[in-house]
Amino acid sequence: MQQTSTTMRETVNQVWKKRPIIISGPCSAETEEQVLETATRLAKTGRVDMLRAGIWKPRTRPGSFEGIGTKGLPWMQQAKKITGLPVTVEVATAKQVEDALTFDVDVLWIGARTTVNPFSVQEVADALRGVDVPVLIKNPINPDLELWTGAVERVAKAGIKQIGLIHRGFSSYGNTEYRNAPMWHLAIEMKRRNPELLMINDPSHISGRRDILLDVAQKAIDLDMDGLIIESHIDPDKAWSDAKQQVTPERLGEMIGQIVWRKEDINSEEYHAALEKLRQQINHLDDELMQILGQRMKVAEKIGEYKKNNNITILQTNRWNEILERAFQKGEKLNLSKEFITKYFDAVHMESINHQNKIMNS
Ligand code: PEP
Ligand code: MN
Repeated sequence: MQQTSTTMRETVNQVWKKRPIIISGPCSAETEEQVLETATRLAKTGRVDMLRAGIWKPRTRPGSFEGIGTKGLPWMQQAKKITGLPVTVEVATAKQVEDALTFDVDVLWIGARTTVNPFSVQEVADALRGVDVPVLIKNPINPDLELWTGAVERVAKAGIKQIGLIHRGFSSYGNTEYRNAPMWHLAIEMKRRNPELLMINDPSHISGRRDILLDVAQKAIDLDMDGLIIESHIDPDKAWSDAKQQVTPERLGEMIGQIVWRKEDINSEEYHAALEKLRQQINHLDDELMQILGQRMKVAEKIGEYKKNNNITILQTNRWNEILERAFQKGEKLNLSKEFITKYFDAVHMESINHQNKIMNS
């Protein structure tokens, strides 16, 4: 099995320590021309530290483009040669690890659909035994920090020393403004538990669309993430996968330039900087609470429709008592006072009733 050259290994080590790390490239490698042109134009922006491309694509439904396969690996090798930038690809099986390493891929990443499956993660980890290559691990598609932690442990136990995390958001059912809900608090908690690991944010797969990429990237940087991985394509609308969320290399460069990079404050302003960070966390959490409340009301409206069709009253006292009892019990464990829980649920309940009322009496 070939290993990457020493000088490229040193470059990778420098990139690993650089803040912020910017990784970009197409969702999928499609053709040699597309890979090389994307790479060249990304390198020209001077804002990118590493190139990415999916070679094997774990698609939700069969029949869509499932990746160009091993044939695309020499294109990545060539892209590296032309730009001098290290390359990273996603691996999900032992064979893919072997192929990627044969073609000198510098950094491997484990995708969200793989992190959820301990068998797959273990297979990848076993294939990595005795290999010196950095590995990035995406969060699992479901909001489960234990699964994410388990994947880190499996890879670490295989002897991999350089491990990083990628926060790409979590699947949620129903329409939200995101493709994958960021649930920032989970990334924050994962970072708190693993301060030694890199935490890179993936605005592309969180957003699922171009117009909010910058907003998500800025939030990630404000939350002190170590870098960004953002998809870029020479002709985004014609991309064979994830067309809606990709941007041209030039737009990528421009976006990175628009991000406000906040400095770590170590002087007298240390206190204010710390406070500011906490306040931003509060804002993000509040945003999420609002999103969730909006979703809750949508469910209430569905219930309203059901009740209307079956001619049932809006208020059912037993159900309301049950909700409150559950909330008191949970609240106690979370250190939330009974008084607060009562006020909060009264307000939420009233709002739900108003939403249902509109449905039932419209
Ligand atoms: C990707 O990075 O193109 C990808 C498949 O991402 P995820 O594993 O986050 O869905
Ligand atoms: Mn993608």
